[in-house]
Amino acid sequence: AATETLLEVNNIEVIYNHVILVLKGVSLHVPKGGITALLGGNGAGKTTTLKAISNLLQSERGEVTKGSILYRGERVQDLDPATLVRRGVIQVMEGRHCFEHLTVEENLLTGAYTRTDGRAAIMDDLEMVYTYFPRLRERRKSQAGYTSGGEQQMVAMGRALMSRPEMILLDEPSMGLAPQLVEQIFEIVRAVNEGEGVTFLLAEQNTNVALRYAHTGYILESGRVVMEGSAQELRENPDVKEFYLGMS
Ligand code: ATP
Repeated sequence: AATETLLEVNNIEVIYNHVILVLKGVSLHVPKGGITALLGGNGAGKTTTLKAISNLLQSERGEVTKGSILYRGERVQDLDPATLVRRGVIQVMEGRHCFEHLTVEENLLTGAYTRTDGRAAIMDDLEMVYTYFPRLRERRKSQAGYTSGGEQQMVAMGRALMSRPEMILLDEPSMGLAPQLVEQIFEIVRAVNEGEGVTFLLAEQNTNVALRYAHTGYILESGRVVMEGSAQELRENPDVKEFYLGMS
C-alpha cells in the first residue's frame, strides 16, 4: 500500500518584500512516519520552504503568493505558528535559539507551552527526551548559554519534542558542528523517528549525511525542485554524485 502523505506542498511561490521571488513553484510530498531531506546549496530556498510551511515568513516580510500547503489534507496556510504546533507541526530553527539564561531543563519545559494535558504527562515526556538525549540529562542544571553548539542543537530538538509533535521541520541541524557530532545528531533523529514515529522534514546542505539517514529527498536549486526520489536513488544519481556528493 502507498504510504500516507502527511504534508503536501503544491506549487508554492514565495515573495519577499513584495518583489523578490524566491520560491518559484515548489511541490513536496512528505510521507507520514518518514524522514524527508530538503537539499540544496546556500540560498536555494530550503529555509524559506520550511518557514512557508510553519507560517513564519511574516516577520521576514515574506508571503506565499501562489500554491497551497495541506497538512493531513487540510489547508494550513492561514494558521498562526502556535496553532500549527497544537496541530502537531513544529519547526526547529537554524542556529538553535535557546533561552540562554534559562537552564537546559527550563528550556525543554518551555517546549510544552501549548499543552493542556497536565504536569504528569509533561514530566513523562521530559524523561522521554532525556532517554534520547542522555547528554541533556547530564547538563540539565546548566545555563543553556554556556553549553556547546552540539548541546544547544540537542536542546532545540528536545524542546520541540516536548510539544509532542507529529512532524518536526528541522533546519540545518549539522550547521557548525564537528562531523562526529553531526553523526550523533542524525542518529538521534533516526531514533526519534523510529521510536516515537515522528515525521521529519529536514533542510540540509550536508547532502552526504542527510541522504544516509533520510528515506526520501528533494533537491532545490534557485527556488525550484530539480530532483526528487528515494534517498538511494538520489545517492546513486550521477548528477547528485557530481554536484552534491563531491565524487563522480
Ligand atoms: P541557507 O542554507 O543559506 O539558509 P537556504 O536554501 O535555506 O539557504 P533561503 O534562506 O531560503 O535559502 O534563501 C533563499 C533566497 O531568499 C536567498 O537568495 C536569500 O537571499 C533570499 N532571502 C531569504 N530571506 C530573505 C528576506 N527576508 N528578504 C529577502 N530575501 C530573502
